[in-house]
Amino acid sequence: MFSIGWRGPVVWWNPIAGYRHAFGPDTPPRPEQHRDTLCGVSVTLTESSDADWLLPTCDSCMSEALIRSENREQRHRDARRRLHDQFGTEFL
Ligand SMILES: [Zn+2]
Repeated sequence: MFSIGWRGPVVWWNPIAGYRHAFGPDTPPRPEQHRDTLCGVSVTLTESSDADWLLPTCDSCMSEALIRSENREQRHRDARRRLHDQFGTEFL
């Protein structure tokens, strides 16, 4: 009914076009995919080298990732409170 633990990524990060951009959580980034970054850029992903991961993080993607993370934490707290109110049991 209510799963605890790893809830999957909020976003995926991938270096492309000079920055580390974030992507939606549904599908992990893979080379050759056509994806939209969270900051709204359409890109075709490429194979990333280790050095690519040292690229600066895109500020817009980071802001969006933080918002998504906070929203999910809020939903998690809300769900826990509803369960507590309904069943009187602590779900952690
Ligand atoms: Zn970005």
